[in-house]
Formats: sequence, C-alpha cells, structure tokens
Amino acid sequence: MKAISVLGSTGSIGTQTLQIAEEFPEQFRVVALTAGRNLPLLVEQIQRHEPELVALADDSLLPELRQRLKHLAGDQKPAREPHLVGGAEGLNIAASWDTADLVVTGIVGCAGLLPTLAAIRAGKDLALANKETLIAAGPVVLPELKKSGSRLLPADSEHSAIFQCLQGTPWAENARLSTGVPTPGLRRIQLTASGGAFRDWDATALERATVADATSHPNWSMGRKITVDSATLMNKGLEVIEAHYLFGLDYDHIEIVIHPQSIIHSMIELADSSVLAQLGWPDMKLPILYCLSWPSRLETPWPRLDLTQVGQLTFRSPDTAKYPCMELAYAAGRAGGTMPAVLNAANEEAVAQFLEERIHFLDIPDVIEATCDKHKQELINHPQLDDVLAVDQWARTTVREKVRQGTSRTSALPAMAA
Ligand code: NAD
Ligand code: MG
Repeated sequence: MKAISVLGSTGSIGTQTLQIAEEFPEQFRVVALTAGRNLPLLVEQIQRHEPELVALADDSLLPELRQRLKHLAGDQKPAREPHLVGGAEGLNIAASWDTADLVVTGIVGCAGLLPTLAAIRAGKDLALANKETLIAAGPVVLPELKKSGSRLLPADSEHSAIFQCLQGTPWAENARLSTGVPTPGLRRIQLTASGGAFRDWDATALERATVADATSHPNWSMGRKITVDSATLMNKGLEVIEAHYLFGLDYDHIEIVIHPQSIIHSMIELADSSVLAQLGWPDMKLPILYCLSWPSRLETPWPRLDLTQVGQLTFRSPDTAKYPCMELAYAAGRAGGTMPAVLNAANEEAVAQFLEERIHFLDIPDVIEATCDKHKQELINHPQLDDVLAVDQWARTTVREKVRQGTSRTSALPAMAA
C-alpha cells in the first residue's frame, strides 16, 4: 500500500486524488493533507481519510479548524485525531511527512515551490501537478532531484501522455523521471491544447471577454487560475517550459497543436519518425492515477474510450496573433535562467488582477510582456533558490504597479475594484 500526502487537498487536483484513494482503498492511504481556506471541505476530508497530519497554509485558521473538529458529533469524529500544523513550515512538514511515500503537489502557483523542495529533500516521490514550481525554479529543482533520487512523475495530462508514451520505447528504464537530461531518441514533442474558453471566438470579439467567459472551460473542470491560463493559452506556454525541464528537449522541438476534442493528450516523435500518442477521455483522474500506480497499471471501471462516439479528431496550428502568451512563454523559456520565474509570477499576478476585474483579459499578455522586458537586463543565468524567490516577488510588485498606473483598457472595465 502506498502512503500519500496531498498538498492542496481542497482543490480540483486534490479532490480528484482523494476520490482515487477512496476508489482504491487497498492500494492507497492518505497520511497528510494541506489546504488553503476551505475548512468545511477539509473537515469532511479528515473524516473520510483520517490522515495523520493536516497542515493549513494560513495558520490563523488553526483555532477554527480545531473547534470544528472538536464539535463533531461522537460518531462523526475521525477515529484518529490528526496532528495539526500551520503556515509555511506546516506545509513543509506535510510535504516531507515521514510515513508518506509519494506527495501529490496540487497547490496552485509558486506557493508550491518550497513544499515541493521540502518533499524532494526528504526523498519523496512526487506526482507533479503544480507546474508553476518547475517553471519558476527548474534550475533549482532539477539538481535537487538528482541529489535526492526523488522521482518526478508528471500529473499534468500532456506530460503524463508523453511519459506514458516513453514507457513504450527502448529507454523506458530511464524514461526520464525528470532530471532535465535529454531522453535519447526523442525527436519531437507535440503538446495538444483544447484551445480554451475562446477557441471559437473571433480575435476581435476578445475585446468583450469577461471573467465569467474566461473561467468556463469547454472540456476540463479545473481551478480558476488554470482555467484563465487555458483561455489565454498561457497554460500551454507554461507546459512547453514544463516539458523542456521534464524531458530535456530544446524549445525548437516542442510544439503546440490545437486539438479541440482533448482526446489525444499529447504525442512524441521518435528518431525513426514513428509518432506515439496517448488517448483517453478528458479526465484528470487518469494521469493522477498513473502517477500513483506507476510503474503498474490498475484496473478501473471508468468509462472506456469510444472513438466512434467521438467521431472526429481534428487538429490545427495555434493562432499566435490571437494568443500572444504562447510566444511570451517560448521566449522566456529560451532566455532561461530567471526569466521563466518572472513570466510565471507576472502571469499569476496578472490573472489575479483580471479575476478581480482590475484589468481586461487582453491586458494580461501586455503586462506580462512589459515585466519580462524589464527583467532582461537583470536576468540571472544560473539562479539559486533565493534568486528565484526574489524575482518572483519583483515581478508581482511590477505587475501591481503597472495595474495601479492603469492600462489603455482600464476605462472599458465593467466594474473597477478599488
Ligand atoms: P485549485 O485552485 O482548484 O486548488 C488549489 C489548491 O491549493 C487548494 O487546495 C487551495 O486551498 C490550495 N492553495 C491555494 N493557494 C495556496 C497557498 N498560497 N498556499 C497553500 N495552498 C494554497 O487549483 P487546481 O486546478 O487543482 O490546480 C492545482 C495545480 O495543478 C496548479 O498548479 C495547476 O496548474 C495544476 N493542474 C491542474 C489541473 C486540473 O485539472 N485542475 C490540470 C493540470 C495541472
Ligand atoms: Mg495540462
């Protein structure tokens, strides 16, 4: 039985991981949970999974959590009282919890970086959903992985697809649990993209895009930040950088293809020109399960793919004029060093500002580009952790400053927050 620690247990990735644990009680047990602010759901999770440890990101909420657990009726109380911790140190404790074999990183954003490093330093295997960590800190995370021997299993559906395809190659043995070393014989990666909320919108219609429009995804049900990233296609740009760090391929050999049905989750081309793909319904439970069960596969009762029901699989090139974020991500990836960290932090902050209706959807790429441009002179080629944390903060402040100054579209916003 594998013991798992779930970081970000109340989010989309976290709740799906816990569903899997419930479906396979013989295989997995949950030993640690961390959450942000959703205490009612967290209490329910504690009742169902009886973890040894629970960490709250915001430690000021610990007394309320204690009260909620204390006031559960006798028969509702978990058989074992979890050890409760809080704050940044609490997240690190959950990430390196002694009895855990594998840590699922379902925290959103660069907030996942320090807990992920704590898990690696403790030698835990990782199911990596929190892509922002690797994008911001690839040059810091990869050497740590090498040192500790932790294995980085990709939970992102595209990277899981690539990883699964690599199992069918002569290099399966070292099909690289991700030290950024080029995988021999891997010639090209094609990342598929649904196209996000605006894929059928005219570029000019984006002038009218609202928060409600950008947060409704046609194929996947996910957290708000990644749903907006899908609408700008920044998510795919971030995944290009993620693929670079995971599989060691240079940026000229990582491509994006729009595939509206989200059935092919990505493809690899090998040295002999053969292309391998992984297919399935768009459901994150499958890539998460593969991280948990790897290198085995478990039998599931989940709906089986029926291509006759899908009918058509279609593909097209992405429109770079409509989606400038993709090119920004390629450029940041190619610049390397601290630039992806700046791109990532600027994006996190820009998306947060958009969700609060302080900027327009079309401002998102503009403020990211301006922030990356400003960083060019300051770029650090071989950053340490402190460098990454410093540029992350700098980029957020820079975006906030730009937003305060106002953008050309500010006056067109429906409701300006203070
Ligand atoms: P979400 O918003 O649904 O959940 C985020 C979780 O992190 C919640 O439990 C929240 O409480 C916690 N959290 C938020 N801010 C935090 C902070 N500052 N410190 C500690 N905890 C915090 O997000 P999600 O959609 O589950 O995405 C999680 C990660 O997985 C993201 O990095 C995303 O890119 C990646 N991912 C998600 C999906 C998906 O289908 N949802 C697919 C691929 C990759
Ligand atoms: Mg993905």
